[in-house]
Amino acid sequence: MTEVDARDEKYKNGEHKQRIKWVNVISIGLFHLPALYALFILHRLNWKTFVWSLLVILTAGFGITGGVHRLWTHRSYKAKWPLRVILALCFSVAGQNTIFDWVRDHRVHHKFSETDADPHNSKRGFFFAHVGWLMQTKHPDVLKYGKMIDMRDVVEDPVVAFHQKFFIPLKIMLCFVLPVLVPPLMWGETWQYSILAAGFLRYMVGLNSTWAVNSAAHIWGNKPYNRGISPAENVSVAIMSMGEGWHNYHHVFPWDYKAAELGNYTFNFTTALIDLFSIVGWAYDLRVPTADMVRRTVESKGDGSHPHWESRQDDAVKSE
Ligand SMILES: [Zn+2]
Ligand SMILES: [Zn+2]
Repeated sequence: MTEVDARDEKYKNGEHKQRIKWVNVISIGLFHLPALYALFILHRLNWKTFVWSLLVILTAGFGITGGVHRLWTHRSYKAKWPLRVILALCFSVAGQNTIFDWVRDHRVHHKFSETDADPHNSKRGFFFAHVGWLMQTKHPDVLKYGKMIDMRDVVEDPVVAFHQKFFIPLKIMLCFVLPVLVPPLMWGETWQYSILAAGFLRYMVGLNSTWAVNSAAHIWGNKPYNRGISPAENVSVAIMSMGEGWHNYHHVFPWDYKAAELGNYTFNFTTALIDLFSIVGWAYDLRVPTADMVRRTVESKGDGSHPHWESRQDDAVKSE
Protein backbone atom coordinates (compact mmCIF):
# COMPACT_ATOMS: atom_id res chain seq x y z
CA MET A 1 0.00 0.00 0.00
CA THR A 2 1.42 3.40 -0.98
CA GLU A 3 1.56 6.31 1.41
CA VAL A 4 -1.36 7.98 -0.36
CA ASP A 5 -3.44 4.77 -0.33
CA ALA A 6 -2.77 4.40 3.39
CA ARG A 7 -3.90 7.96 4.04
CA ASP A 8 -6.91 7.41 1.80
CA GLU A 9 -7.83 4.31 3.80
CA LYS A 10 -7.59 6.27 7.04
CA TYR A 11 -9.74 9.01 5.53
CA LYS A 12 -12.44 6.52 4.51
CA ASN A 13 -12.47 5.21 8.06
CA GLY A 14 -12.81 8.76 9.38
CA GLU A 15 -9.34 8.58 10.95
CA HIS A 16 -7.69 11.30 8.92
CA LYS A 17 -6.63 14.39 10.68
CA GLN A 18 -5.19 17.56 9.25
CA ARG A 19 -2.46 18.41 11.69
CA ILE A 20 -1.61 22.01 12.45
CA LYS A 21 1.77 23.05 11.04
CA TRP A 22 2.94 25.08 14.01
CA VAL A 23 6.10 26.28 12.26
CA ASN A 24 3.92 27.93 9.61
CA VAL A 25 1.41 29.29 12.12
CA ILE A 26 4.18 30.94 14.11
CA SER A 27 6.27 32.16 11.17
CA ILE A 28 3.29 33.60 9.24
CA GLY A 29 2.03 35.20 12.45
CA LEU A 30 5.44 36.62 13.38
CA PHE A 31 6.03 38.05 9.90
CA HIS A 32 2.76 39.98 10.14
CA LEU A 33 3.65 41.81 13.37
CA PRO A 34 6.55 43.94 12.04
CA ALA A 35 4.59 44.38 8.78
CA LEU A 36 1.70 45.90 10.75
CA TYR A 37 4.10 48.08 12.73
CA ALA A 38 5.62 49.28 9.42
CA LEU A 39 2.24 50.80 8.49
CA PHE A 40 2.76 53.35 11.29
CA ILE A 41 6.21 54.49 10.08
CA LEU A 42 5.32 54.83 6.38
CA HIS A 43 5.29 58.64 6.62
CA ARG A 44 8.88 58.60 7.90
CA LEU A 45 10.25 56.64 4.95
CA ASN A 46 12.36 58.15 2.24
CA TRP A 47 9.91 58.34 -0.70
CA LYS A 48 12.37 56.29 -2.74
CA THR A 49 12.01 53.40 -0.26
CA PHE A 50 8.25 53.57 -0.71
CA VAL A 51 8.50 53.53 -4.52
CA TRP A 52 11.13 50.76 -4.35
CA SER A 53 8.86 48.60 -2.17
CA LEU A 54 6.01 49.08 -4.66
CA LEU A 55 8.31 48.14 -7.53
CA VAL A 56 9.39 44.97 -5.70
CA ILE A 57 5.71 44.08 -5.13
CA LEU A 58 4.96 44.57 -8.84
CA THR A 59 8.01 42.53 -9.86
CA ALA A 60 7.01 39.66 -7.58
CA GLY A 61 3.40 40.00 -8.70
CA PHE A 62 4.33 39.61 -12.36
CA GLY A 63 6.22 36.41 -11.54
CA ILE A 64 3.05 35.01 -10.03
CA THR A 65 0.38 36.31 -12.40
CA GLY A 66 2.32 36.25 -15.67
CA GLY A 67 4.53 33.31 -14.67
CA VAL A 68 3.28 30.50 -12.45
CA HIS A 69 -0.36 31.39 -13.04
CA ARG A 70 -1.07 32.37 -16.64
CA LEU A 71 1.97 30.73 -18.24
CA TRP A 72 2.98 27.61 -16.30
CA THR A 73 -0.40 26.61 -14.82
CA HIS A 74 -2.79 27.54 -17.58
CA ARG A 75 -0.58 27.68 -20.69
CA SER A 76 -2.66 30.66 -21.79
CA TYR A 77 0.29 31.93 -23.85
CA LYS A 78 3.75 30.76 -24.82
CA ALA A 79 7.00 32.40 -23.70
CA LYS A 80 10.51 32.21 -25.14
CA TRP A 81 13.27 31.27 -22.71
CA PRO A 82 14.45 34.83 -21.88
CA LEU A 83 10.94 35.72 -20.71
CA ARG A 84 10.62 32.44 -18.79
CA VAL A 85 13.91 33.23 -17.01
CA ILE A 86 12.62 36.72 -16.14
CA LEU A 87 9.35 35.21 -14.86
CA ALA A 88 11.15 32.59 -12.75
CA LEU A 89 13.36 35.29 -11.20
CA CYS A 90 10.37 37.57 -10.58
CA PHE A 91 8.57 34.62 -8.99
CA SER A 92 11.52 34.10 -6.63
CA VAL A 93 11.08 37.69 -5.44
CA ALA A 94 7.58 36.74 -4.24
CA GLY A 95 9.01 34.20 -1.78
CA GLN A 96 6.34 31.55 -2.33
CA ASN A 97 6.63 27.78 -3.01
CA THR A 98 8.48 26.17 -5.91
CA ILE A 99 7.02 26.60 -9.40
CA PHE A 100 6.16 22.89 -9.44
CA ASP A 101 4.20 23.03 -6.15
CA TRP A 102 2.44 26.24 -7.09
CA VAL A 103 1.32 24.90 -10.48
CA ARG A 104 0.15 21.55 -9.10
CA ASP A 105 -1.82 23.24 -6.29
CA HIS A 106 -3.41 25.64 -8.74
CA ARG A 107 -4.30 23.02 -11.33
CA VAL A 108 -5.95 20.87 -8.67
CA HIS A 109 -7.72 24.02 -7.39
CA HIS A 110 -9.28 24.61 -10.82
CA LYS A 111 -10.13 20.99 -11.45
CA PHE A 112 -11.77 20.35 -8.06
CA SER A 113 -12.84 23.85 -6.96
CA GLU A 114 -14.76 24.05 -3.71
CA THR A 115 -14.29 20.39 -2.82
CA ASP A 116 -11.97 18.73 -0.31
CA ALA A 117 -9.50 18.20 -3.16
CA ASP A 118 -9.19 21.99 -3.56
CA PRO A 119 -6.12 23.03 -1.47
CA HIS A 120 -7.84 26.29 -0.43
CA ASN A 121 -11.46 25.18 -0.56
CA SER A 122 -13.45 28.39 0.08
CA LYS A 123 -16.40 26.37 1.42
CA ARG A 124 -14.31 26.03 4.59
CA GLY A 125 -14.51 29.76 5.20
CA PHE A 126 -12.56 32.93 4.48
CA PHE A 127 -9.67 32.25 6.85
CA PHE A 128 -9.01 28.73 5.59
CA ALA A 129 -9.13 29.84 1.92
CA HIS A 130 -6.92 32.86 2.63
CA VAL A 131 -4.10 31.48 4.77
CA GLY A 132 -5.42 28.72 7.05
CA TRP A 133 -4.72 26.11 4.37
CA LEU A 134 -0.99 26.85 4.68
CA MET A 135 -1.13 26.35 8.44
CA GLN A 136 -2.12 22.69 8.39
CA THR A 137 -1.27 19.49 6.56
CA LYS A 138 -3.20 18.98 3.33
CA HIS A 139 -6.53 17.22 3.20
CA PRO A 140 -6.04 13.63 1.94
CA ASP A 141 -8.09 14.43 -1.18
CA VAL A 142 -5.68 17.24 -2.12
CA LEU A 143 -2.79 14.77 -1.99
CA LYS A 144 -4.70 12.04 -3.77
CA TYR A 145 -6.00 14.18 -6.65
CA GLY A 146 -2.84 16.30 -6.77
CA LYS A 147 -0.92 13.17 -7.72
CA MET A 148 -3.23 12.69 -10.69
CA ILE A 149 -2.47 16.11 -12.19
CA ASP A 150 -0.42 15.92 -15.37
CA MET A 151 2.74 17.94 -14.69
CA ARG A 152 4.91 16.68 -17.54
CA ASP A 153 4.96 20.03 -19.37
CA VAL A 154 6.26 21.76 -16.23
CA VAL A 155 8.85 19.12 -15.40
CA GLU A 156 10.21 19.25 -18.94
CA ASP A 157 10.84 23.00 -18.85
CA PRO A 158 14.59 23.56 -18.20
CA VAL A 159 13.87 26.98 -16.67
CA VAL A 160 11.61 25.31 -14.08
CA ALA A 161 14.31 22.70 -13.42
CA PHE A 162 16.87 25.48 -12.88
CA HIS A 163 14.50 27.27 -10.49
CA GLN A 164 13.84 24.04 -8.59
CA LYS A 165 17.56 23.38 -8.21
CA PHE A 166 18.38 26.84 -6.86
CA PHE A 167 15.03 27.44 -5.15
CA ILE A 168 16.35 28.22 -1.65
CA PRO A 169 19.31 30.51 -2.57
CA LEU A 170 17.16 32.34 -5.15
CA LYS A 171 14.39 32.87 -2.60
CA ILE A 172 16.80 34.08 0.11
CA MET A 173 18.64 36.45 -2.22
CA LEU A 174 15.76 37.83 -4.27
CA CYS A 175 12.97 37.88 -1.68
CA PHE A 176 14.77 38.64 1.56
CA VAL A 177 18.25 40.08 0.96
CA LEU A 178 18.21 42.24 -2.18
CA PRO A 179 14.93 44.15 -1.50
CA VAL A 180 16.24 45.18 1.94
CA LEU A 181 19.83 45.97 0.83
CA VAL A 182 18.96 48.48 -1.87
CA PRO A 183 17.38 51.36 0.15
CA PRO A 184 20.22 51.80 2.71
CA LEU A 185 22.99 51.30 0.14
CA MET A 186 21.48 53.37 -2.68
CA TRP A 187 19.86 56.33 -0.90
CA GLY A 188 20.81 56.04 2.74
CA GLU A 189 17.54 54.75 4.18
CA THR A 190 17.94 53.49 7.77
CA TRP A 191 18.38 49.73 8.07
CA GLN A 192 15.49 49.58 10.50
CA TYR A 193 13.01 51.22 8.09
CA SER A 194 14.26 49.22 5.14
CA ILE A 195 13.80 45.92 6.99
CA LEU A 196 10.33 46.96 8.17
CA ALA A 197 8.97 48.44 4.93
CA ALA A 198 10.92 46.90 2.03
CA GLY A 199 11.26 43.65 3.97
CA PHE A 200 8.31 42.67 6.13
CA LEU A 201 5.53 44.96 4.89
CA ARG A 202 6.35 44.47 1.20
CA TYR A 203 6.46 40.67 1.61
CA MET A 204 3.19 40.49 3.56
CA VAL A 205 1.33 42.79 1.15
CA GLY A 206 2.44 40.56 -1.73
CA LEU A 207 1.38 37.36 0.01
CA ASN A 208 -1.99 38.74 1.11
CA SER A 209 -2.71 39.97 -2.42
CA THR A 210 -2.17 36.46 -3.77
CA TRP A 211 -4.19 34.90 -0.96
CA ALA A 212 -7.09 37.34 -1.56
CA VAL A 213 -7.66 35.71 -4.96
CA ASN A 214 -8.34 32.40 -3.20
CA SER A 215 -10.45 33.92 -0.41
CA ALA A 216 -12.20 37.21 -1.29
CA ALA A 217 -12.53 36.49 -5.03
CA HIS A 218 -14.08 33.12 -4.20
CA ILE A 219 -16.64 34.67 -1.86
CA TRP A 220 -17.65 38.22 -2.89
CA GLY A 221 -18.62 39.62 -6.29
CA ASN A 222 -20.86 39.21 -9.32
CA LYS A 223 -20.98 36.10 -11.46
CA PRO A 224 -21.66 37.28 -15.02
CA TYR A 225 -20.24 34.16 -16.69
CA ASN A 226 -21.39 31.31 -14.45
CA ARG A 227 -23.78 31.91 -11.57
CA GLY A 228 -23.38 28.29 -10.42
CA ILE A 229 -19.77 28.57 -9.17
CA SER A 230 -18.17 30.39 -6.22
CA PRO A 231 -15.43 32.41 -8.00
CA ALA A 232 -16.62 35.98 -8.56
CA GLU A 233 -15.64 39.27 -10.21
CA ASN A 234 -13.94 41.31 -7.49
CA VAL A 235 -12.52 44.71 -8.50
CA SER A 236 -10.56 45.27 -5.26
CA VAL A 237 -8.79 41.94 -5.67
CA ALA A 238 -8.18 42.72 -9.35
CA ILE A 239 -6.33 45.92 -8.40
CA MET A 240 -4.39 44.26 -5.57
CA SER A 241 -3.38 41.24 -7.61
CA MET A 242 -2.50 42.91 -10.93
CA GLY A 243 -5.59 41.59 -12.69
CA GLU A 244 -6.43 38.25 -11.09
CA GLY A 245 -9.68 39.35 -9.44
CA TRP A 246 -11.88 38.75 -12.49
CA HIS A 247 -12.25 35.33 -11.06
CA ASN A 248 -15.68 34.24 -12.28
CA TYR A 249 -14.47 34.79 -15.83
CA HIS A 250 -11.13 33.16 -15.09
CA HIS A 251 -12.69 29.92 -13.81
CA VAL A 252 -14.90 29.77 -16.92
CA PHE A 253 -12.11 30.61 -19.40
CA PRO A 254 -8.88 29.72 -17.53
CA TRP A 255 -6.95 29.56 -20.79
CA ASP A 256 -7.52 33.24 -21.66
CA TYR A 257 -4.13 34.99 -21.20
CA LYS A 258 -5.91 38.14 -19.95
CA ALA A 259 -7.66 36.20 -17.14
CA ALA A 260 -10.47 38.71 -17.73
CA GLU A 261 -12.83 39.86 -20.43
CA LEU A 262 -13.48 43.48 -19.46
CA GLY A 263 -11.52 46.20 -17.70
CA ASN A 264 -8.48 48.00 -18.96
CA TYR A 265 -4.79 47.75 -18.09
CA THR A 266 -5.34 49.69 -14.83
CA PHE A 267 -7.19 46.70 -13.47
CA ASN A 268 -5.03 44.16 -15.26
CA PHE A 269 -1.42 45.28 -15.27
CA THR A 270 -0.26 41.73 -16.01
CA THR A 271 -2.03 41.79 -19.38
CA ALA A 272 -0.24 45.07 -20.20
CA LEU A 273 3.13 43.44 -19.47
CA ILE A 274 2.37 40.28 -21.47
CA ASP A 275 1.22 42.49 -24.39
CA LEU A 276 4.46 44.44 -24.10
CA PHE A 277 6.55 41.25 -24.27
CA SER A 278 4.46 40.07 -27.21
CA ILE A 279 5.61 43.16 -29.17
CA VAL A 280 9.21 41.92 -28.99
CA GLY A 281 8.07 38.35 -29.69
CA TRP A 282 9.03 36.86 -26.31
CA ALA A 283 5.34 36.19 -25.53
CA TYR A 284 3.35 34.62 -28.34
CA ASP A 285 0.29 32.47 -29.14
CA LEU A 286 -1.79 34.53 -26.70
CA ARG A 287 -5.07 32.63 -26.31
CA VAL A 288 -8.49 34.31 -26.10
CA PRO A 289 -12.03 33.01 -26.63
CA THR A 290 -14.14 34.53 -29.41
CA ALA A 291 -16.58 37.31 -28.49
CA ASP A 292 -19.39 35.02 -29.60
CA MET A 293 -18.26 32.24 -27.25
CA VAL A 294 -18.23 34.68 -24.32
CA ARG A 295 -21.63 36.14 -25.26
CA ARG A 296 -23.25 32.70 -25.44
CA THR A 297 -21.78 31.82 -22.03
CA VAL A 298 -23.03 35.10 -20.51
CA GLU A 299 -26.53 34.50 -21.90
CA SER A 300 -26.83 30.87 -20.86
CA LYS A 301 -25.08 30.76 -17.48
CA GLY A 302 -24.49 34.31 -16.18
CA ASP A 303 -26.25 36.00 -13.27
CA GLY A 304 -27.40 38.95 -15.43
CA SER A 305 -24.77 41.43 -14.16
CA HIS A 306 -22.78 41.55 -17.41
CA PRO A 307 -22.90 44.92 -19.28
CA HIS A 308 -24.09 42.90 -22.28
CA TRP A 309 -27.59 42.87 -20.75
CA GLU A 310 -27.66 46.66 -20.42
CA SER A 311 -26.79 47.12 -24.07
CA ARG A 312 -29.52 44.62 -24.99
CA GLN A 313 -32.01 46.64 -22.93
CA ASP A 314 -30.88 49.86 -24.65
CA ASP A 315 -31.39 48.20 -28.04
CA ALA A 316 -34.86 47.08 -26.96
CA VAL A 317 -35.76 50.64 -25.83
CA LYS A 318 -34.45 52.11 -29.10
CA SER A 319 -36.50 49.68 -31.18
CA GLU A 320 -39.73 50.43 -29.26
ZN1 LIG B 1 -9.82 30.28 -8.02
ZN1 LIG C 1 -6.11 30.03 -12.41
